[in-house]
Amino acid sequence: MTLPADSPALPFLPFARPTIDEPMIEALADTVRSLQLTSGPQVLAFEQALSEYHGGRPARVVTSATAGLELALMACGIGAGDEVILPAQTFFSCANAIARTGATPVFVDVDLDSRNLSLAAAAAAITPRTRALMPTHFAGLPLDMDALYALARQHGLRVIEDAALAIGSRWQGKPIGSFGDIASFSFHPNKNMTTIEGGALVFADPAEAAKVEQLRFHGIRRLPDGTRDVMMVGAKYNMPDVHARLGLAQLARLDTFNARRRLLVDRYFERLAPDAFGLQLPLRGDDGHSWNMFAPLLPLARLGRSRKQIMDALAARGIGSGVSYEAIHLTTAYRHLGHGEGSFPNSERIGRETLTLPLFPLMRLDQVDRVCDALEEILTA
Ligand SMILES: *Cc1c(COP(=O)(O)O)cnc(C)c1O
Repeated sequence: MTLPADSPALPFLPFARPTIDEPMIEALADTVRSLQLTSGPQVLAFEQALSEYHGGRPARVVTSATAGLELALMACGIGAGDEVILPAQTFFSCANAIARTGATPVFVDVDLDSRNLSLAAAAAAITPRTRALMPTHFAGLPLDMDALYALARQHGLRVIEDAALAIGSRWQGKPIGSFGDIASFSFHPNKNMTTIEGGALVFADPAEAAKVEQLRFHGIRRLPDGTRDVMMVGAKYNMPDVHARLGLAQLARLDTFNARRRLLVDRYFERLAPDAFGLQLPLRGDDGHSWNMFAPLLPLARLGRSRKQIMDALAARGIGSGVSYEAIHLTTAYRHLGHGEGSFPNSERIGRETLTLPLFPLMRLDQVDRVCDALEEILTA
């Protein structure tokens, strides 16, 4: 694959960067000029395209993946008294979405190599109150879907897949979301495609898609006499047409974006041999990995330096980096669930040591080399 001619030189290399070209900006401007701004024909067209991408399953777009997770839980009838199992190391919105429905988030540890929910730990955490599993396909690496759904079936649990990082990821050749129960995608600018802010749910059950359609817009049903009824306590999570128009243009490029991410990650793996400078590299997976992030673990104990010092040293060399993410059970809002240091060792270690390095479709191979050279200099100093 050749490098795109529009790859920028970027004196400061950010760790994430959306690809928005002039035709996309023109399409956005056309949508604004049309004055059809909020949910309308572009939302319908984007949902149709998302549905086609996911094997014809119903898709509904919302204002964020966080909103999507909350609506998915509501559509499943999950609330007070229910428990939902999630990884202790993922983005905070998973726990927040569960807690906002009144249900209890039940944290379990992740596997150190895949950074995905440990299914053994999840099985051990199931109680008579457990209603659903909410695993994250971390960084775009799909969970073992056979094992995940075998566990869910065995206990009669719903599965809400946090696929925020996994649009375009494939499991045994099939796109995440094209099979399974409910999948939730994010279109935040740091994800593999963007609508600025936005998200989508893809469903196995068309009745649940229809329910989410109502829930995302005040719970409203339109009556034949032109008036409205409110059928349930809804939210205001509908995506504007302006955003959906960008989503349509982005989805058309998604597979190309993801192929570029894989090519760049191949270079990272080439340059960073296993254990290079003590880094623990992420599990490589196969071609179904969409590589939203490339995030090795830092050998902080051996280095005797903090992650912040490493990040500052990278920044001084014009290289951005990020922390994705801190362990949720140690945050102030979730301490009341009774966990502490040592509760989930893998999640805590990842939260402490993870460092997200630059990776985005328009990045160049020589920019990967620049990051690896800087890492070598900093970590061997
Ligand atoms: C980004 C992200 C989300 C939330 O996505 P938003 O669209 O920003 O709400 C959820 N889970 C994970 C793992 C994420 O990285």
